[in-house]
Order: sequence, then structure tokens, then C-alpha cells
Amino acid sequence: MKLCSKCKNIMKPLDKGMFECISCNHKAKGKDLIEIEKIPEHEIVEEGVVEDKNIFADYPFKCEKCGFDKAEVVERPPYVSDEDSLTYLKCGKCDWMENLARKTS
Ligand SMILES: [Zn+2]
Ligand SMILES: [Zn+2]
Repeated sequence: MKLCSKCKNIMKPLDKGMFECISCNHKAKGKDLIEIEKIPEHEIVEEGVVEDKNIFADYPFKCEKCGFDKAEVVERPPYVSDEDSLTYLKCGKCDWMENLARKTS
């Protein structure tokens, strides 16, 4: 992807290696333009924020399935009225679920 040298907007490709800005219609040769990767991916990396289900996985844990060492704590309401609510550990990598109450008793 190429950016306009004047307004930093995206350039669309024209014929013969020429590009035209979608915003200001500035035209330039491709080699004179700023070349960037896909914008969204770069922004995510720079901010250090990755949209991922694993962000809640901060409970120390050893996954039986894949060996991953962090899990998300998941509360489940009891299925039966006289049962305690169930707490599960969900592996942050493979989504393996382990019943925490059963494990500690
Ligand atoms: Zn422009
Ligand atoms: Zn796992």
C-alpha cells in the first residue's frame, strides 16, 4: 500500500507504475511514494493492544492439553439449585476447560 506524499492518504494504482491519491488527486510514480504495510495491523502492534480472547487469561495454570501456563477464570451458575456455582479455568491457548472446584477439593 502506498501513501500520498502530500496528504498521507491512500494512493490507488494507475497505469505504468503511476499512483493517484484518493483524497487530493496528487499523482506520482510508485517509487517516489511511501510504502507501508496494511495500516490496521501496524497500529495494533504499536499500541500493544491485541484483540484476542487471551487477554483475560491471567490465572496461573497448567493446561492438560497443550501445556499453556495461563487460564481465564470462568464462572458458571449452578445447573442444580443445591449445587455451588462452578468455577472453570479456561486455557488461554486451546480453550480447554477445567473445573477449578473439583481440582482443589
Ligand atoms: Zn493526497
Ligand atoms: Zn491448552
